[in-house]
Amino acid sequence: MKVAVVKESAPGERRVALVPETVPKLVQAGLEVIVEEGAGDAAWFPDATYTAAGATITTLAALYAEADVILTVTRPDEAALGRLRAGQAVIGLLSPLTDPQLAAALAERGVTAVSLDGLPRTLSRAQGMDALTSQANVAGYKAALVAADAYGRFFPLLITAAGTARPAKLLVLGAGVAGLQAIGTARRLGAQVSGYDVRPASKGEVQSLGASFIELTAAVSAAGEGGYARELTAEERDAQQAELAGHIARQDVVITTAQVPGRRPPLLVTADAVRAMNPGSVIVDMGASPLGGNVAGSVAGETVVTENGVTVIGAQNLAAAVPTAASNAYSRNISALLLHLISTSAPEERALSVDTTDDIQAGVVVAHGGEVVHPAVAKLLDAEPDSPPPGETAPRTPRSTPARTEGEADVDRAGH
Ligand code: NAD
Repeated sequence: MKVAVVKESAPGERRVALVPETVPKLVQAGLEVIVEEGAGDAAWFPDATYTAAGATITTLAALYAEADVILTVTRPDEAALGRLRAGQAVIGLLSPLTDPQLAAALAERGVTAVSLDGLPRTLSRAQGMDALTSQANVAGYKAALVAADAYGRFFPLLITAAGTARPAKLLVLGAGVAGLQAIGTARRLGAQVSGYDVRPASKGEVQSLGASFIELTAAVSAAGEGGYARELTAEERDAQQAELAGHIARQDVVITTAQVPGRRPPLLVTADAVRAMNPGSVIVDMGASPLGGNVAGSVAGETVVTENGVTVIGAQNLAAAVPTAASNAYSRNISALLLHLISTSAPEERALSVDTTDDIQAGVVVAHGGEVVHPAVAKLLDAEPDSPPPGETAPRTPRSTPARTEGEADVDRAGH
């Protein structure tokens, strides 16, 4: 069985799905690893390091001709889609809940699509495969550095002959994986850090990192399923925004990381709250997306300076900006999942054994046997109009729709 590593094609994407360190593990399991020329260059893994680890470097055309399984970080682009053929499998972060048409296109081609973002994250045996956590961790670290870089003063307290600089006041909104790493990193840089989240469990986690926890008087506890937050009601949201605004105005730096699975990111920093901040303040919005983010006026992928001098950074794909660390972690995640997917095949006849009665596979296998098999993704496709919107070429596809329970429309990233 040939496992291929492609060079990522998305703009700004510097990660690679498999690093040389992980190659021997796959070879020992009876797999052959082929790597597209230059696949690891942007993450500082030259071709020679793959060859030394037991992989073969190949051209793009040969790779698609020979590969049984293609490992990727993000979704295949249109050109790659055209090269894929029936019987091949693609494993990566395919975002099927935000891009169900890709799943449909892969199913139509008879390609097995496996997406790491559907992993049941609370399952302890899946934790080594949890790419959302590993990449959020890297992104949270980078968010603190991006904020420090854009901020015109010091983060730490500095006492020098030229005067004393007070430490920066930094607030992290959303204390999940990325938020906690941003808090830890900002603390290590010497900022005076506080954190806030709607999940009560996050209070202890924030405090254990030496930061203070902001408790709102209009406290909402919005713990949802699987350790995630639920979406707030309109009343809860208004009360939260109004009360947070007072805290935000006192900060030099705000980093937002709030997400609600399957929903648009909640707006936490309103336009009024931004206006109340001092000139020179910095906001890093990790929730920034084309649909809107956690911060009013943030633009995904861009830095905007407001009239009152607040720098609002619409951070996107921060993990790709720390490519070596992010790739190292991702490589361990994806290889652990791949080894799980082949675990029931004989070592001398390695093959993916798709079995969606397995908890892990039920979350990650999106398309197989010409059908979209993931119920939450199939449901999204069913909800879409029959003909794709203009400019959208992805074909409709037959799909199975296994029995579902009430309320599954509000899907989480694990699809349960
Ligand atoms: P996420 O990316 O979905 O959201 C980031 C944070 O935003 C969350 O902490 C969420 O509570 C918060 N948030 C959402 N709406 C908000 C609002 N209106 N105001 C303020 N904050 C808001 O979450 P994540 O970082 O992927 O993980 C969230 C939780 O899941 C964490 O507790 C994490 O420890 C847990 N988790 C558990 C496992 C595991 O058990 N193995 C794995 C991964 C994550």
